[in-house]
Amino acid sequence: MTQNMITDAAGTMQVTPHSPNVTIGNGLSSPLPFERITTLRVNEIFYSLQGEGGRAGEASMFIRLQGCKTKHACYEAGIRCDTEFESGTKKTLYDVLEIAQNLAPQCKWLVWTGGEPTDQLTAEIVQYFAMMGYLQAVETSGLNPVPEGIDYIALSPKVAEHVIRKNFPAGNVNELRYVRQPGQAIPEPSIIAEQYYLSPHFDGEGLNAASLQHCISLCLCNPVWRLSVQQHKLWGAR
Ligand code: SF4
Repeated sequence: MTQNMITDAAGTMQVTPHSPNVTIGNGLSSPLPFERITTLRVNEIFYSLQGEGGRAGEASMFIRLQGCKTKHACYEAGIRCDTEFESGTKKTLYDVLEIAQNLAPQCKWLVWTGGEPTDQLTAEIVQYFAMMGYLQAVETSGLNPVPEGIDYIALSPKVAEHVIRKNFPAGNVNELRYVRQPGQAIPEPSIIAEQYYLSPHFDGEGLNAASLQHCISLCLCNPVWRLSVQQHKLWGAR
């Protein structure tokens, strides 16, 4: 552990860094600790309520990572992506921790989102934030395996089922969430999840009424599936 977490009288988490030498990839020793040399390309960090899926309503720190290697698959599948993930700045893990602490020191959940967060996340990064006291969720397209240590996996598949099976051989996901619009059939996932959600397609910030009705009908006919609406858009939250 390269930093200590202490709690002050008001119960606020404080970060106290110390700087032991660490061995980096080439076997050399760095004077900087892991969190000062490891960087992520970050699009934005914001504090809000989780709007959809099994964690809906929970206060969370969202870390949107830059870039998405799934974008070509989405384009070819006709999926209209409404997320801006191309821009971003390089931040060290310590920068990310500091921003999260400044925005909401009381927040316990980090949500890694994107773009495709697993393009950048590693088990070491997940371990670092776990050691800093955070629970961590990831929202992924299924393109890559999820690093060890993640506490909650929300998988919204945007890649072929054989890729999903390869990356999640144990089916160890907390929720599977598929976006549906009129004309699209009930999904036939090839892995097991704890919970299954259908999410009506949104037109930008607006809920598409026909998609909502279609998802409601699918859930009524197939009760293993639950309705998940992007409620944060309805609440006017981020
Ligand atoms: S995987 Fe998600 S973020 Fe990436 S292009 Fe597709 S819809 Fe957009």
